[in-house]
Amino acid sequence: MLRIFSDELLNPKNFVVTLELVPGRESFGRTTDTLIGIAKDAFADGRISAVSITDNPGGNPSLSPDVLGYEIFKHGLDVIVHFTCRDMNRVGMESRALQLARMGMKNILALTGDYNGKGFGGQGAPVFDLDSVLLNSMFKTLSEKLVASGDPEEFFTGCAVSPFKTKEAECHAQYKKLDKKIVAGASFVITQLGYDVKKFRELMQYHMVKNPDIPVMASVYLLSPRSARAMNKGRVPGAYVSDDLFNKVISEWKDARQGLKAAIERAAKLGVILKGLGYRGIHIGGIHRSFKTVGAILDRMEEIENNWQDYLNEFETKDSSACYMVDKKTESVEKRSVMESLKEKLTDHYPYRILNQAHGFFFDKNAMLAPVYKKIANFFERNNKAWLLKRCLEDPLKVLFLSCQSCGDCGIQHLAFQCPESGCPKHTRNGPCGGSRDGYCEVYPDRLCIWVRAYERMKYTNVLPGFLKDLVPPRLWELNKTSSWINFHLGKDHQK
Ligand code: SF4
Repeated sequence: MLRIFSDELLNPKNFVVTLELVPGRESFGRTTDTLIGIAKDAFADGRISAVSITDNPGGNPSLSPDVLGYEIFKHGLDVIVHFTCRDMNRVGMESRALQLARMGMKNILALTGDYNGKGFGGQGAPVFDLDSVLLNSMFKTLSEKLVASGDPEEFFTGCAVSPFKTKEAECHAQYKKLDKKIVAGASFVITQLGYDVKKFRELMQYHMVKNPDIPVMASVYLLSPRSARAMNKGRVPGAYVSDDLFNKVISEWKDARQGLKAAIERAAKLGVILKGLGYRGIHIGGIHRSFKTVGAILDRMEEIENNWQDYLNEFETKDSSACYMVDKKTESVEKRSVMESLKEKLTDHYPYRILNQAHGFFFDKNAMLAPVYKKIANFFERNNKAWLLKRCLEDPLKVLFLSCQSCGDCGIQHLAFQCPESGCPKHTRNGPCGGSRDGYCEVYPDRLCIWVRAYERMKYTNVLPGFLKDLVPPRLWELNKTSSWINFHLGKDHQK
């Protein structure tokens, strides 16, 4: 191995460059040969610290990053394996992690993952047994076990963050979740894709106060008309290309050669800006044909590095409605119409207050009546009558107010009294995925993201300090279809 990614990234003197490769739906063939060729050229060039390989991007089947990564790894180039929560439950994930450890591939980018696309016979079943916070935690725990059993190295696990959000709630949620991922074990961060320099600056300002020792890399993408269109239309979850930028890319590519030249120039300018802003490296994506383009970006970066401040205005967004957390002037620009406010009160604020009070009364272990509830729960359990309470009282109430899915390990209190099983298609309990757009869900674009609603509910009730505060453990599947009320009072659920 010529270069070791973790060593390079953790040395603050370095500016690290990694390259993202996207495998195709084939085991042999042109795409795979091209990727191997790019990786070999990257190795020969010597400026790339590692390649990162995506895990069924867009939720569609593709050659496993583990096997393609291993082939590249054997050629001598370090590899970052993308590891998502979409396709496997925690048993499969742990087994895959052990396999990667055995293969010596310990650099992991732990992600929730895009929602499911189509495989053999149609759309795949979404698993999302863990979320990205818990995945980081799983790798941390596994590392300790592996080292104790004689494995010489730990996993080097990283996470993603998407600063390119427009709504106040989304911005807060992304940053809060980033903090949780770091507490859970993430050792490095890679941003999602975007071109707003103010957002890049905001992330650094936030992060350097909270976690200055954790290096952050930024994504830089070689924009083609196709990728720019997909990102502009919201078809690449978490990536953001404004209308202005999209139109510019389309006009640049009227002549393909000029288009490529402009794309390289844009990537190089953004790269030097990011270096100037204090990012510890860049993660280059959008390279599908040859390494030559990457070489051209890096050469150009060397030429213009000292002038990075001259290019800042080229990456200023004109979206005046976007929220910037560090800019107090823009914090409260989200105006609502009378109808929207009324709807919000009826569907969010009032139900939240009622549920909050009911929860405090019935489900607080320090409450005066808690010992009584425990006795009642014990009575039902001992007499095998828990089902009676569940069917006659718990299910009707919880289905009516929460569209409860009867998971038996209730997590509504972490989500401002919304059900993570019915409300979020990825069942997130530790914060939103990176896929929301203007506050709406990646999977169901007509629904507000459940975390945006949670934020608004808590803001309205002045309890925001509690938003995304706790690290919520994995759901206990052994409690599925049992009474969550009894499980809570008998200390069987995740709150024990
Ligand atoms: S509800 Fe929010 S967190 Fe859940 S999938 Fe949709 S965007 Fe992601």
